[in-house]
Amino acid sequence: MKILMASSEAVPYAKTGGLADAVSALSLALAKLGHEVRIVIPRYYGIDRGKLTQLEGAMGVPTGAGEEWSAVYTTDLSGSPAKNPVRVYFIDHENFFGRDGIYGSPSEPDFLDNPRRFAFFSKAVFQLCRKLDWYPDILHAHDWPSALVPVYLKFAERQGGFAKGKSKGFSLTASVLTIHNLGYQGIYNKDNFNYTGLGWDVFYNAGFEDWNMMNLLKAGLYSADKLTTVSPNYAEETKLQAHGFRLDGVLRYRSADYSGILNGIDDGIWNPAKDTHIPKTYSAKEMEGKAKAKEALQKEFGLAPDPNVPLIGMVSRLVEQKGMGALFGPSYGSAWSICRDMNVQMVLLGAGESWCENEVMSLSSRLSNFKARIGYSEKISHLIEAGSDFFLMPSQYEPCGLNQMYSLAYGTLPIVRNTGGLADTVENFNEEKGTGTGFMFNDLNPQAIYNTVGWAVWAYYNRRPQIEAMRLAGMKQSFSWEKSAKKYVDIYEGLVKD
Ligand code: ADP
Repeated sequence: MKILMASSEAVPYAKTGGLADAVSALSLALAKLGHEVRIVIPRYYGIDRGKLTQLEGAMGVPTGAGEEWSAVYTTDLSGSPAKNPVRVYFIDHENFFGRDGIYGSPSEPDFLDNPRRFAFFSKAVFQLCRKLDWYPDILHAHDWPSALVPVYLKFAERQGGFAKGKSKGFSLTASVLTIHNLGYQGIYNKDNFNYTGLGWDVFYNAGFEDWNMMNLLKAGLYSADKLTTVSPNYAEETKLQAHGFRLDGVLRYRSADYSGILNGIDDGIWNPAKDTHIPKTYSAKEMEGKAKAKEALQKEFGLAPDPNVPLIGMVSRLVEQKGMGALFGPSYGSAWSICRDMNVQMVLLGAGESWCENEVMSLSSRLSNFKARIGYSEKISHLIEAGSDFFLMPSQYEPCGLNQMYSLAYGTLPIVRNTGGLADTVENFNEEKGTGTGFMFNDLNPQAIYNTVGWAVWAYYNRRPQIEAMRLAGMKQSFSWEKSAKKYVDIYEGLVKD
């Protein structure tokens, strides 16, 4: 099959979250299965043109505000199979994308012209195919920034009128839209609809209308042939009012075409047997490296060097979605009481909302057994995954979540809220049978986190053989992209027209 991924992010070029990892890893896994996969993303300011090849000629993109011109650059995605590389195309438009930041900047968190930028990008996806004379079987869009792609396909590009013997254009192309996080929908003033170049009949027929605003993701959810999200449990949750961010009705309406496929993890990077960021590699058969990692982690953060105290790690965006309110919120969230009452150590790496960064650093200076670092570090995140005994993720909601899967691979027991992909990947500890791979709680409040961490700490001191067995059970699991890619292929195959 010919598959084109249209995305606002893809590693290693542009990343703000799990979307970027998923797009590139899924593309590589599909290419390894023999499919012809290409990716198209905007060329942001930070992407060096010098490392790319420019396609000949400029590309005209018709928009509602007149034609815009773009250059197109290309390269092969690193890690591609030699015989079947994944080609990446970059849509280069200085005004729209030649700035720092993908969706916004510190002073302007959501660029005012985002609807215009991503309407242009989505339309450019089709112009690119025409330029290349390459028409995919599947157009796979991701999240709100490319949600207009399935809308254009259904309401403009797929509409008949193809001369006999000529290319059939997009008449045989089907679309898939994947939700990586339903919390972000691209809701803008509806005046911006003019930039799409679509007629106002489409505004209503495609479901853009959202309380007198324009909702890009909602229109995509109405228009795409199939919808997916990044875990089976999140697919179910998002059909409920509690997790649907007001789009649960649309998702219930589309439920016959909507499913969840768990993201994979890259076991070339997140694998304790190959990890170059930790002092000594290890595996289920030889766990000595894990103890060495714990020692190094305690040293790195200035914690007492004690192999026998349970160490709880966290790597997270410091935002409400990740449950930070219940951990660090006003009047002493649970982190403070946990560290005060229990014989534990805690380390945290993260960045995000300033109230949380401040609170975390203040705790870090007041407590000897809680140490935090604000910032982003690939190396430290590996050390935390390897050196911790437990990994805490009290997420409010979690479409898939990667860190709990990394933790399982590293023999670190996740302590998670029973939600989204966390519920699909972690099995709760059963004291009687000694089974499970982690610890779970249902309600998001300081007391529930405190109690569940307390339970894990109790098990660490009193049920050590069971803890060790759980570590090994987690390490045996596989979250491969190949497995996930095959599930996407099943969906694509159901759509391909001969
Ligand atoms: P989300 O995409 O919602 O932030 P995920 O768990 O799906 O959550 O993915 C987050 C990814 O970003 C993980 O790979 C995590 O390790 C990484 N990450 C988040 N914050 C940091 C940080 N401060 N330093 C290093 N890696 C981080």
